[in-house]
Amino acid sequence: MNVLKKCMLSSFILLFFFTIIPAVHAAEGQMYRVNVNTIELKEAPKDDASVIGQLIEGDKLTTFENNDGWVKTFYRGEAGWVHEKNLQAIHLNAEGKPIPEEKSPQSYKAITPKGGLINLPAERTKLVSPNLKSASMEITRGEENKLSGYHFIIDAGHGGKDGGALAKKMKEKDLTLSTAKLLAEELKEEGADVTLSRTDDTYISLDDRAHISNSSDADAFISIHYNANKNSKAAGISTFYHSSKHSKLANRIQSALVLATSMNDRGTKQANYKVLRSNRKPALLLELGFITNPDELEKIKSMTYQQNAAKGIVEGIKRHFLKND
Ligand SMILES: [Zn+2]
Repeated sequence: MNVLKKCMLSSFILLFFFTIIPAVHAAEGQMYRVNVNTIELKEAPKDDASVIGQLIEGDKLTTFENNDGWVKTFYRGEAGWVHEKNLQAIHLNAEGKPIPEEKSPQSYKAITPKGGLINLPAERTKLVSPNLKSASMEITRGEENKLSGYHFIIDAGHGGKDGGALAKKMKEKDLTLSTAKLLAEELKEEGADVTLSRTDDTYISLDDRAHISNSSDADAFISIHYNANKNSKAAGISTFYHSSKHSKLANRIQSALVLATSMNDRGTKQANYKVLRSNRKPALLLELGFITNPDELEKIKSMTYQQNAAKGIVEGIKRHFLKND
């Protein structure tokens, strides 16, 4: 074999590997978009694995491993698995920017060792992001899920002379304020306008709270509380509404909250609370756990818990106002 032939053969072999190898590892570092209303994120790559989160249409995720059709991603810092049948690949150009779907190629040409051309189907040739390091390791929400244009009143229960429930020096009014502030931040991040009924330790009457809501253009009023009971074993989250018109919003927020916090589900109930009864906007009162339950108190006083609860509430709000599913 002369030098020229050797040279040509080795460059064909090199080309072959450079063209085919990324296709073999296509699922790793691939960006996908959730293509169905909701999908469950599982702890392990199988149907009966426990659910650790829920993704909604438009969520984007980067996958790092493929196990029999299940792809691995990261959600709130935890590894989780979703089935690729519910995902649509996002192709990236050389600068790492998504290529609009209609321009995505149906197949790629690959060079065989003999120098011939073969067509590979698109699903075997998903492009690997050239800047994986800077690609998001977490699931990102699609723009279409933004809450811009929506206005929410977030009401931190109690305050000032009204401490609310009390246990082990922990006052309900302090827990409701920190949770309300976290919730306000989460909502603002989604593009919503937020009004807090109080931002510090001041007393506001129930009439004034309802008035803030009634005199606004708010889409919903959400009052944050923590529960108390003589029975220290009482546990879990409940959501209250006054008008049955708002039971759907209550159900969506309650189920998203339970999923986000793994708390006991006490369900949604109709209740005659003044702050709900006097409210002309869709109004809910959330009881986010029992400060009289020692195990639950440890959990609910942590920022992690309050942050997860806030994320759950936002998830429920989005499901109600943006998807209505
Ligand atoms: Zn309360």
